Amino acid sequence: MNTFEFDLAVIGGGSGGVRAARMAAQRGARVLLAEAGALGGTCVNVGCIPKKLYSYAAHFGEAFTLAHGFGWDAPKPVLDWPRLKANRAREITRLNGIYHDLLANAGVQLVNGWASLAGPHTVAVAGTGGARHITSRHILVATGGHPLVPDLPGAEHGVTSDGMFDLDPFPRRLVVVGGGYIASEFASIFHGLGAHVTQLVRGGHLLRGFDADVSNFLAAEMRKAGVHLRIHTEVAAVTRQGDLRQVLLKDGSTLEADAVLFATGRVPNVAGLGLTAVGVAQGKDGAIVVDAHHQTSVPSIHALGDVTARLQLTPVALGEAMALVDRLLGTGARRMDYDFVPTAVFTHPNVGTVGCTEAEARAKFGAVAVFKTDFKPLMHTLSGSTERTFMKLVVDRASDRVVGLHMVGPDAGEVVQGFAVAMKAGATKAVFDSTIGIHPTLAEEFVTMRTPVPD
Ligand SMILES: Cc1cc2nc3c(=O)[nH]c(=O)nc-3n(C[C@H](O)[C@H](O)[C@H](O)COP(=O)(O)OP(=O)(O)OC[C@H]3O[C@@H](n4cnc5c(N)ncnc54)[C@H](O)[C@@H]3O)c2cc1C
Repeated sequence: MNTFEFDLAVIGGGSGGVRAARMAAQRGARVLLAEAGALGGTCVNVGCIPKKLYSYAAHFGEAFTLAHGFGWDAPKPVLDWPRLKANRAREITRLNGIYHDLLANAGVQLVNGWASLAGPHTVAVAGTGGARHITSRHILVATGGHPLVPDLPGAEHGVTSDGMFDLDPFPRRLVVVGGGYIASEFASIFHGLGAHVTQLVRGGHLLRGFDADVSNFLAAEMRKAGVHLRIHTEVAAVTRQGDLRQVLLKDGSTLEADAVLFATGRVPNVAGLGLTAVGVAQGKDGAIVVDAHHQTSVPSIHALGDVTARLQLTPVALGEAMALVDRLLGTGARRMDYDFVPTAVFTHPNVGTVGCTEAEARAKFGAVAVFKTDFKPLMHTLSGSTERTFMKLVVDRASDRVVGLHMVGPDAGEVVQGFAVAMKAGATKAVFDSTIGIHPTLAEEFVTMRTPVPD
């Protein structure tokens, strides 16, 4: 006898939650999804999508300048920031509607409200009509994460990435605190939109965890483009007088800014979920601990995406959701495969990467061959820009397999996506060498690198 009202109750309607709910409902399951905010979660509302739209906007600004060498003359362009914000907001609202329709058409019961766990099979949902308890055979927690604001005096005078899309007015002087991908992307984007940007990095490098050559090359290119990048620099306090923020650094100097972005990490959304009472084990920063099948310490409760603080990327949350639904409602016990997950950083220039960094490959495989190139892209022979492009391959000498591929340059994410397929299929350097390039492109360099750098 079926004793539960639902087969799957999903808490959180972001990338992972929406995908799991929709796929489960399409398989005939009775599904409820509770979302406290806007459907689509971080990615759609304050992450990947608005960020990429603003990155396009920033590239347009550069394109006016680059076009001059190709014979185009135009008056100095002016950014209409309110128009960009309004157009972005309209597009995001359209996407929220699409998510709603996808779920509704699949038969998912949608509840707009805050949800928490009230038992291994019970979810409490606080909606507009008051609190309600529902029971479900399986529960999925996909509540994502939120930006971490550092604990320092005056931190409240700064904003997080959530607030960057609607800043009012446009910040002529922006201080970005952080060296990760979100900090670096906003530094590049707002510089491209016309702000004077200073990026403060506590450590010695941008993009910790990325290949060292990539991070060094990117830092040099961002500096060349005009971002004031300061490494080994820590903020002591922020003060505010009217619209002016003063950022006091630990070396005693001060920076003035119209806005200060704290992009200093993200933590899982776990507060108030009732995890401890129900017995769901948590790890660092409260992240929900799951096994390889996204199952928590309570067998009927599952978790995926950013709340588990593993690879915090939308396609990873989507992949995990599909693997979970396959296991709970399908035939197999398919596992999410975390090998060769490609990723891009939408700095200017972009970064694209898949597989091991050189350091990881040396630790994992021992003997590796490294191929590198950096060059001036064809477009910049006429554009006048001094921007260069960097590419790197890391090859396991024993198997000849390409185990790392990295790029800093235009559309790096677009280039790397295709190579990720080849690498996942086990492509060797010999296969790369026998592949014919497409000429003239940047990507062809990846199949024409013949001489490894000396060990
Ligand atoms: C600025 C920025 C840029 C990014 N850019 C990229 C990118 O370019 N590419 C990429 O792959 N990834 C990017 N990401 C990461 C990506 O957005 C996340 O990895 C992804 O959204 C995680 O999906 P999720 O389902 O785990 O959580 P989320 O998408 O965060 O969804 C969680 C949802 O749960 C809801 N919720 C939370 N608690 C409750 C509750 N108790 N009850 C009901 N609802 C609740 C929230 O309102 C939210 O809608 C970016 C992130 C940021 C912040």
